Amino acid sequence: MSGILSEVAKKAGVALSFDPDVLKAKYLYERDRRVREDGNDQYQEIKGEFAGLAEDHYVDPGFTREPLFDEVEFIVIGGGFGGLLAGARLREAGVKSLRMIDLGGDFGGTWYWNRYPGAQCDIESYIYLPLLEELNYVPSEKYSHAPEIMAHSQAIGRKYDLYDDALFQTEVTGMEWDENASRWIVSTNRGDRMKARYVILSNGFLTKPKLPGIAGIENFKGHTFHTSRWDFDYTGGNSDGNLTGLRDKRVAIIGTGATAVQCIPHLGEWAKELFVFQRTPSSVDTRNNRPTDPEWVKSLEPGWQKNRMENFNILVTGGFQEMDLVGDGWTEVFRKLNGREMQQQFVGLTGREKGMLGEIADQEKMEGIRARAAAVVKDQQVAEALKAYYRQFCKRPCFHDEYLDTYNRPNVTLVDTNGRGVERVTENAVVVGGKEYAVDCIIFATGFEVGTTYTSQAGYDVIGRDNIKLSKKWADGFSTFHGFFSNGFPNCFFMGMTQSGLTANYPHALNEQANHVAHLVKYARANNVTCIEATREAEAEWVETCKAKARTGATYFAECTPGYYNNEGKPSPGRSFITATYGGGPIEFFDILKKWREDGGMKGLDIS
Ligand code: NDP
Repeated sequence: MSGILSEVAKKAGVALSFDPDVLKAKYLYERDRRVREDGNDQYQEIKGEFAGLAEDHYVDPGFTREPLFDEVEFIVIGGGFGGLLAGARLREAGVKSLRMIDLGGDFGGTWYWNRYPGAQCDIESYIYLPLLEELNYVPSEKYSHAPEIMAHSQAIGRKYDLYDDALFQTEVTGMEWDENASRWIVSTNRGDRMKARYVILSNGFLTKPKLPGIAGIENFKGHTFHTSRWDFDYTGGNSDGNLTGLRDKRVAIIGTGATAVQCIPHLGEWAKELFVFQRTPSSVDTRNNRPTDPEWVKSLEPGWQKNRMENFNILVTGGFQEMDLVGDGWTEVFRKLNGREMQQQFVGLTGREKGMLGEIADQEKMEGIRARAAAVVKDQQVAEALKAYYRQFCKRPCFHDEYLDTYNRPNVTLVDTNGRGVERVTENAVVVGGKEYAVDCIIFATGFEVGTTYTSQAGYDVIGRDNIKLSKKWADGFSTFHGFFSNGFPNCFFMGMTQSGLTANYPHALNEQANHVAHLVKYARANNVTCIEATREAEAEWVETCKAKARTGATYFAECTPGYYNNEGKPSPGRSFITATYGGGPIEFFDILKKWREDGGMKGLDIS
């Protein structure tokens, strides 16, 4: 073994059963052969002849209501975890006049739409489901399935009276600022023009399903649907499986990301034939789900959820904790690194060498995951095609105990496209490498719009002071102060990914954001404030900070196989969602917010 990584391993006294430099070269090869000239433009929006693929199957058709022209203090756009947390924290702050708006027929957001068979949270439910202590609830298993998460969302809605004035099946079509009245006017597809003093935009992320730009896809005459709009009328069954409608069907699924990994075992169980079209394999580690132990629940002390969330967050951002409370595949790489940091050899290494040791720990972890594919899948050619050659956090890591075994079924075929993707779709078949796979149904597990503009993903524009459009202002990327405010858009709070600290446990970030918004609202109400707006200077400074911090992870993602994490292999400061967030990480970010609140001076905001 020779090469820089091998040298570092030797220096640190780490014995390896593989050559880390050869492996790194393989990772780069796998990346290079997947990067496409058209990058993110390879995908197409679901509209026009495909519009039906975005329809809501979970509501009764024909819903109508009278349009609203009234006024409320707060409008929260989005009824997912972000909106629910904002609503909960605002209620706690004493806000009575609060209207939630969502396109779906209920609360739940991601969990309203993603009901596909096998849908389950991939982060431990005790830290993922928000407001557990507030609702005095402990999930029934370590990794909750979608129905439990949806039910919990509804329970939050009930507990905080968020249903009272909620508007479901309502799509916001625009927002404009009325300078004279100091109010927002929110328009919807139901003809509403409602006024609000404050609007919170929690539109969510990974909400707008997208289609691959595969030649001929419009010609397919069989049945099609996207995983986030699962057609149970066609497949039969529900989130738990039991897809009896597929017993006589030849089914194609395109995509092998985190969604596909969860539904493929059910498709394999029920379809007459299943063809899985893979461009890049996911890394699939063990899940080890288990029912919640009632004795453990009895032992929980007040504050347990916050502690557990923080413990996880510190570990997955490379910090040290005496105990790993969650103890799963997310924290394992970091445990290994922490263990090494404790060793004497680590002391003599430079910062760069320590970074390389981190890379080696990642390689070791991924070697384990690849070995698992080889151990579970009987046909070694298929097993090899299922091995992920990239660093663990280049793509969403997956955890599943039945996924790999599904490829041992005689009715399941993995069609590996060698990194190139599906070639063509005909009237009745999916084509790869010139071979036609005749199918009755194509399921698109091809993910969601990312890397396009904020307003494209939200589905509406925001017109602020002096007719400034958010689409124009953010055309080349976000421009905010602390992620929440943008100059020219007073009393408008952004929640989500906008230049904010991101963590693998996304609801944790949303909770911090909701608390911050509630803090501002309490201040505004106590001080008779009519307008809160970021100053140009504070915003410019934050944008520069974000740009500088974005460089931290730039090399990591530049070396990754393409995907939505790195703008399809073309990382750009404004667009790839990782670089659009605060690169200093969540701990630093939450700390910045905390200190800012404690300072009490509302620095960076124009308050009138
Ligand atoms: P992804 O964007 O992760 O996956 C899309 C898949 O479609 C990829 O495998 C992609 O391949 C493939 N694809 C795209 N175009 C083509 C093509 N032309 N031919 C063949 N394959 C193609 O979407 P998902 O819905 O799987 O997941 C989105 C995100 O949702 C996850 O990353 C995760 O954050 C979240 N999620 C969370 C879950 C949870 O438990 N909390 C569960 C499920 C999802 P390639 O990789 O080569 O681009």
